[in-house]
Amino acid sequence: MLRLHNTLSGRIEDFVPIEPGRVKLYTCGPTVYDFPHIGNWRAYIFEDLLKRFLIVRGFKVEHVMNITDVDDKTIRGANAQGVGLDAYTRPFIEAFGRDRDTLNILPADRYPRATEHIGEMVGLIKTLLDKGFAYRKDGSVYFAIAKFPAYGRLSKINLEDLRPGRRGDADEYEKESVHDFALWKAPKEGEPVWETEIGPGRPGWHVECSAMSSKYLGPTFDVHCGGVDNIFPHHENEIAQSEAANGVKFVNYWLHCHHLVVDGQKMAKSKGNFYTLSDILAKGYDPREVRFLLLTTHYRKMLNFTFEALEQARAGRNRIRDFLVDLRGVKREGPPGPEVTGLIEAARAGFFAGLDDDLNISGALAALFGLIEKANALVAGCRLSRADAEALTSFILEIDEKVLKIEPTTVLQKSDPNSKRIVKIINENVSVQEFVKVDISSDVDPDVQKKIDERQKARAAKDFKRADEIRKELLAAGILLEDAKDGSVRWKKVGPPAA
Ligand code: AMP
Ligand code: ZN
Repeated sequence: MLRLHNTLSGRIEDFVPIEPGRVKLYTCGPTVYDFPHIGNWRAYIFEDLLKRFLIVRGFKVEHVMNITDVDDKTIRGANAQGVGLDAYTRPFIEAFGRDRDTLNILPADRYPRATEHIGEMVGLIKTLLDKGFAYRKDGSVYFAIAKFPAYGRLSKINLEDLRPGRRGDADEYEKESVHDFALWKAPKEGEPVWETEIGPGRPGWHVECSAMSSKYLGPTFDVHCGGVDNIFPHHENEIAQSEAANGVKFVNYWLHCHHLVVDGQKMAKSKGNFYTLSDILAKGYDPREVRFLLLTTHYRKMLNFTFEALEQARAGRNRIRDFLVDLRGVKREGPPGPEVTGLIEAARAGFFAGLDDDLNISGALAALFGLIEKANALVAGCRLSRADAEALTSFILEIDEKVLKIEPTTVLQKSDPNSKRIVKIINENVSVQEFVKVDISSDVDPDVQKKIDERQKARAAKDFKRADEIRKELLAAGILLEDAKDGSVRWKKVGPPAA
């Protein structure tokens, strides 16, 4: 049985959805005032792991993710550039979609945008005014947290020194200044204004998620996710708004991933300590190595980002690739033996049991790498048949396709002597083919090859400036080069960089 940690109870609970076989999932999406950084991607990859595993466990998942395209930060950014919100946010929304696909994250069923749901937010605010949970002040509308006794239950906040009537307009604030928060903000110089039934103005940040989640998933749904920074005030405020307005429990399971940090500090735009995905790809990493890194630390543990950790992720992914290559070398005819069948069954059980245990990815990967270690010993001892090797290959590609999505076979490039073997096997083996998407091009564009050769010459002549220029030129054309330790170079298509 799947068990998940619920921030609301502070415990790991059995997961039972409202409707058998279906899961309604809402995940807080990007605030599109800048390009997403890999801290954001950690949250989205954790949510992807959850969603993929729910699907493995037979649930049909209905997933909604909001796009925050109006809030304090987007307005500030648009004003600084002297453009409208729509023009300002568009490139960031596009970059989000591009990076999401590059990282093999399943898209949500819907991406509602805040600016397209002002009517729903106004409706919710009207209900809160009618029911006495909200009040007007100087053209704005605030939520009166003293009217909602359950306030603070999610974040376990101490409300003892709560001063009634203390108010704030900022979308984000610290726990120390817990206060009535703005649902609707009065018109202000330099801010967009909507003319509505509750008066002119614009929404606060928190109200969008309450309005859009109930529109698409209903007043009560199964799972709501975000990073731990969302717990207070954002999710606390969402619960207050939704439960006060609808009179029913808002969400059954709250899941939060811990931060990705750099030198002990949360990676954030405001701190300037961030990398975007394209920053990392430009350094020669594969997006699937980034995915592997973000996936392989348990979601409730802090993840310290370093390039050393990224190198380890690369090595881990390559280990899986190398194993697949070795399996292809197994030629001995014969039926599958009980030893390998048993090893695969144990690894399968261990892998999925790990994920059942609050998405314990370390346990799951221990089962996978344990299998690789044992099977490698069998390969070395010539104790595998071809059928054994195929069964092992199918198993690894199956869990990759269902859960990991690090596509170990695509590490291989044309210049790699192993790649031809792998491609051939994949083409020959139907059961494997089902699971694999090969993105290895068989032919390199002659112009690209010319550039690669020119760069190799530049490197040989120690003209690293020219070599780097060529690398960047090719990256702009969607070709990523990887320099191997032996001096050879691999290339792959990655699409144009996001920024
Ligand atoms: P934002 O675009 O800031 O609204 O954040 C989008 C998502 O990324 C939210 O779920 C945040 O909790 C999450 N997030 C932001 N920064 C980090 C970080 N450094 N580590 C993990 N998750 C983060
Ligand atoms: Zn939200």
